[in-house]
Amino acid sequence: MLVLAATRLFTPLEELQNPLLFVEDGRIAEIASRNQKEIPNAATVVDFGDSILAPGFVDIHMHGGTGLDVMRASPAELPRLGKWLTTHGVTGYFPTTVAAPLDQTCTALGCLADAIEAGRSPAKTNRDAVQARPLGIHLEGPFLSHKRRGVHAPENLVEPTPQIFERLWRAARGHVRMMTIAPELPGAIEVIAEAARRNVCVSIGHSDAVMEGARAAVRAGARHATHTFNAMRPLDHREPGIVGEVLTNKRLTADIIADGIHVAPEVVELFLQAKGIDGSVLITDATSAAGMPDGTYQLGPMQVEVKDGRCTMDGKLAGSVLTMDQAVRNVTRFAGWRLLDAVRAATLNPARAAGFEQSGILAPGVEANLVVLTHSGEVQKTIVRGRGY
Ligand SMILES: [Zn+2]
Repeated sequence: MLVLAATRLFTPLEELQNPLLFVEDGRIAEIASRNQKEIPNAATVVDFGDSILAPGFVDIHMHGGTGLDVMRASPAELPRLGKWLTTHGVTGYFPTTVAAPLDQTCTALGCLADAIEAGRSPAKTNRDAVQARPLGIHLEGPFLSHKRRGVHAPENLVEPTPQIFERLWRAARGHVRMMTIAPELPGAIEVIAEAARRNVCVSIGHSDAVMEGARAAVRAGARHATHTFNAMRPLDHREPGIVGEVLTNKRLTADIIADGIHVAPEVVELFLQAKGIDGSVLITDATSAAGMPDGTYQLGPMQVEVKDGRCTMDGKLAGSVLTMDQAVRNVTRFAGWRLLDAVRAATLNPARAAGFEQSGILAPGVEANLVVLTHSGEVQKTIVRGRGY
């Protein structure tokens, strides 16, 4: 039995003072307060003192980091990415594809499916244990709008058909759990309905949809929105468009890149006010350049330039170098949110949006995936399945 102690704990639905968190066989056995519960003599006690225990962060939109791109890395290289992610508090992530030739995409999906399946079996050594694991795949493309494609190459965008979706689904062996799609494309509504039927979190984005187009997507089963404001028809006060629907529809959760570069801090605040503490999700959209010095890096089949924290291709923003712990701290700064609520937008909310009820939460029975934070949100330690303390 392992017992973790600290001064605060975020479940993150609520905050507990002077918590004790009991771990057995890599899972949380119980959460109690220090004056409620005795510590068994045989237990290993780790006291983090004046710190906060929180669920490990879950990043549902990331393309890589520390020089590794998720579409190009070999299964043997992904553990290095997983380890680096834990230094930023992430314990679960969704490797995210970009639009690429279909054959290339299918090969990458097969490798990512291998990594997801391998991550489910217990790690052999303590050293291997502490890494963020890929939970499911996020398909960002190829069903994106030409008008709002960002840096996704036009020749790799395709119109949605059930046949192409089926091909991607099979290549990923059913591990596609999120899909960003532009709902106004011909054929999109049928593919949205089919993906939703398979429990894929359909996320509208890279889209030039007017409000009615976004509404049709929600009726077909879409339930989330991808990097709100970026690669979307802008909000207009007479034609609110997709952004108007995303900000006002309570049935939709939505994510945002809170680096202060993709969206102005004031607009991040506006977004958080609109989506609230249960509908807001933080993503990084990090590329392989995250955690690396300025230079040239890979983003799927593309090359991106990083200079002074901006990741671009031909002058257009191309993903980010944001880390999830920084996004959480930014939200406390940009919008004055409590750390508890900012943590929720990086843990429970993304996990629920993607349909992973057992991630992003501290509760009895779930895997003991935790981040230990200072009161200002700096990562002190990351624990995966009860290991790494
Ligand atoms: Zn992306």
